[in-house]
Amino acid sequence: MKDRISKKEVWNEKMELLSRDEAEKIRLRRLRKQLKYCYKNSEFYRHKFDEVGFHPEDIKTWEEFRKIPPLMDKEEERQSQKESLDRFGHPFGMHLCCRPEKIIIAKTTGGTTGMPTFSYSFTQHDFDRWNEGTARVFWLAGMRPGDRVLFCFPLSGGWAGSIVKTPLHYMGILCLDLGAETPVEKIVEYTGLLRPNVLMSTPSFAEALIETYEKMTQRPVSEFGIKKLLLTGEPGVGIPSIRKRMEEAFDGKWNDYLMINGEGFSGSCPAEEYQGLHEVALDLSIWAEDLIDIDTKKPIDIKNGSIGEGLITSLEREGLPLIKYRLGDVIQIFTDCCKCGYPGPGYRIKHLGRLSDRLFVEGVSVFPIAVRDVITSFIPRVTGAMRIVLTEPPPNITPPLKVKVEWGREVEESQLPRLAKEIEDRMFGLYRIRTEIEFVHPEALGRVTKKTPMFEERYR
Ligand SMILES: [Zn+2]
Repeated sequence: MKDRISKKEVWNEKMELLSRDEAEKIRLRRLRKQLKYCYKNSEFYRHKFDEVGFHPEDIKTWEEFRKIPPLMDKEEERQSQKESLDRFGHPFGMHLCCRPEKIIIAKTTGGTTGMPTFSYSFTQHDFDRWNEGTARVFWLAGMRPGDRVLFCFPLSGGWAGSIVKTPLHYMGILCLDLGAETPVEKIVEYTGLLRPNVLMSTPSFAEALIETYEKMTQRPVSEFGIKKLLLTGEPGVGIPSIRKRMEEAFDGKWNDYLMINGEGFSGSCPAEEYQGLHEVALDLSIWAEDLIDIDTKKPIDIKNGSIGEGLITSLEREGLPLIKYRLGDVIQIFTDCCKCGYPGPGYRIKHLGRLSDRLFVEGVSVFPIAVRDVITSFIPRVTGAMRIVLTEPPPNITPPLKVKVEWGREVEESQLPRLAKEIEDRMFGLYRIRTEIEFVHPEALGRVTKKTPMFEERYR
């Protein structure tokens, strides 16, 4: 694949080639329309807007909108759903802005605690909007009509992940949905017949596929024919050593993407080096540019490198629009021009982690992803697999922060104390936190085909 893109190589030439000014004008016009629509059609939003003292008619500029505090989060979404179930007999929530019969797709985000949220519920209009936004993301990642996708996500039937495959059909792409719960041996056998050239799964599933394929056939997975990897759901693509290993194994290109609650359409690009996720639909959704400080919750200025919690606001959404919705994700935004030359008006994003995963080691705040970045910078002396061991309930940790790490296959056990010291020193140098590395055998942490856990909760 080429690593620079031309203007002809975007999915939607009309919306993706707008200048920044034009895009901002459209965004403001659509924002005002969406706010008025929510106020008119949902008691929930009327109440929310009144509570913080703003009327949609008051919002004349982007800056005025940014001053409005967050209005909703996941817990409130659940409460809203419970109330609509009690009062109106449907689970979509009090923030539903249309008749419930208009919802034609209802996917949940599952979740292990509490009521599942139906955040991926769409009317026909919203479904078209979803397919449009996501097609732009996939096109940027190099997907083209005629591709054949092996689609392997856990529980791909009811879970929101399954909604990611509908844009493929919209783009004219064949999708083999086998689900990650299918034994990998079966998947290898079946795909031998259909010859997919794209894999969509989590990075852990791709790792499992490499191992099983090579065990079953005694041949490298690069002969499998998969040259495009759209792997997401776990970190990895941003870590050069992990990315290099995966791309070399398949002899292909790894791209990732992020769409949350049917919003925030963003994906990585053809650039050789990972550049984060491009926002490709400023006309459909606001996310990365409505940042608040992770502690004070006040709006922060958008500059190259700004870090904060992103608030989601829908544009052009009919059924379940989100306004100033707190996802609890911490992101970093890049406003400079990308190496790939993407001509669109959106900025780039790096996802830094869940706010709820943040730890405080003797008062110093640190995200697990930062710990993992330090560990993986030691590959191949470590395998990259690791767990943060929690001996007390987070977020406050009495130092040292314990980290279990698999040593690399080529490393002698006698070298481990020295390696531990190097890792601990690097962690302290970068983040001023004290850590204690506990080494385990390569593969001792196991490989899973679904999301790899970051923590070992020993206090439970
Ligand atoms: Zn780019």
